[in-house]
Amino acid sequence: MSHAVLTLSPQAVSEMKEHYASFLQSKVPQGGVFTAKLPGCSITAYRSGKVLFQGKDAEKEAQKWGTGLLSQPALKTKKTPSLPPGFSSLSVIGSDEVGTGDYFGPMTVVAAYVSKEQIPLLKELGVRDSKDLTDLKIIEIAKKLILFIPYSLLVLHNEKYNEFQQRGMSQGKMKALLHNKALVNVIEKIKPEKPNAILIDQFVEKNTYYKHISNEKEIVKENVYFSTKGESVHLAVAAASIIARYAFLKQMDALTEKVGMTIPRGAGSHVDHVAAKIMKEHGVEALHSLAKIHFANTEKAMKIAQK
Ligand code: MN
Repeated sequence: MSHAVLTLSPQAVSEMKEHYASFLQSKVPQGGVFTAKLPGCSITAYRSGKVLFQGKDAEKEAQKWGTGLLSQPALKTKKTPSLPPGFSSLSVIGSDEVGTGDYFGPMTVVAAYVSKEQIPLLKELGVRDSKDLTDLKIIEIAKKLILFIPYSLLVLHNEKYNEFQQRGMSQGKMKALLHNKALVNVIEKIKPEKPNAILIDQFVEKNTYYKHISNEKEIVKENVYFSTKGESVHLAVAAASIIARYAFLKQMDALTEKVGMTIPRGAGSHVDHVAAKIMKEHGVEALHSLAKIHFANTEKAMKIAQK
């Protein structure tokens, strides 16, 4: 088991506590400020400023906060300096997307509203960073979430994706358009209630994001914040991410059914082989509705299919 120790300012420790709000444990050791239990790592911060990371992801997690040098100015790497205090306990619309790095399957984008009153319930349901959850758990949690969380799910199927891409639209722009649209939808859904803030799981610089959506009729701009790892900043992003992945999984099941072979995730070499098989059985055209054609996998699959 690896571990890492940082020494941070009291301010950095309290920002850290907020960052890990959804992972805090009720038991804190003597002299401790907080204990957080992440899937791959436990973190204990002490009043002395020492922060101890333990577990397989200890070093990776510690690196988000500093290099481990004593008394170094903390949080140089903090991604979201402008978030209001107590952000994790505000009423927030969060948005996130799934499927952008997968050759097969659509892009799914979800915006979801979590009011501050619902935060404890979401924690109880096990809502947290979806990357740490199994598919089974994702499905289980998502099915409950969609019953009471106001959300908007947008699915960009690959016919459309490829059409946009061939017209020269970047994936970043597609994402931005869909995030904005999903946010518009949720704001409309929860009216007259208004969120304290909106948090977009950051995939592009703020200015670029707004450039991408500058021709849209409605542009969500008020109280909008961007943060990478948004899922650990507010549960609304974690909830959006879980629903987006659930939708993506369902779409992948549907494609598997349609094609009659298991459609894999990702963009690795296993994907090339399945794509080659599809080409042989159904022709290259079949990929247009199944996959993101501009990925290098298409080329590789063609080579395999020609062998
Ligand atoms: Mn994301």
